[in-house]
Amino acid sequence: MPNDYHKYLVCSACDATLVDIWVVKPDLINPLTGKPFVWRMQANCPFCGDQSYITEVVGKYFPGGYAVSLDDEHENEIPSTILENINYNEADDLVTFTVMKANPHAKPCKCPLD
Ligand SMILES: [Zn+2]
Repeated sequence: MPNDYHKYLVCSACDATLVDIWVVKPDLINPLTGKPFVWRMQANCPFCGDQSYITEVVGKYFPGGYAVSLDDEHENEIPSTILENINYNEADDLVTFTVMKANPHAKPCKCPLD
């Protein structure tokens, strides 16, 4: 089984990392189609008002807000965003995340992995 990994939704205008997608089963097969699940995702940006790039994620995933880790153990983190809501827009086949700043003073943080 492939390892799990993280994928990130990033603002198309200001480059802030908005949503942390933890992909746990990238090879999960949809029993209705016999093919892997493929999700198209997009998030709003609470920092500049624009939106993320539409990003494809395959398999089973857990979404979360984004926080910058200050150490390898992830014990000290600066929260940047939190997820408020998740919707599925069937007409556009798009999973849309509603993202808020983690607090009124939260700064837009860029993913160090990108
Ligand atoms: Zn932005």
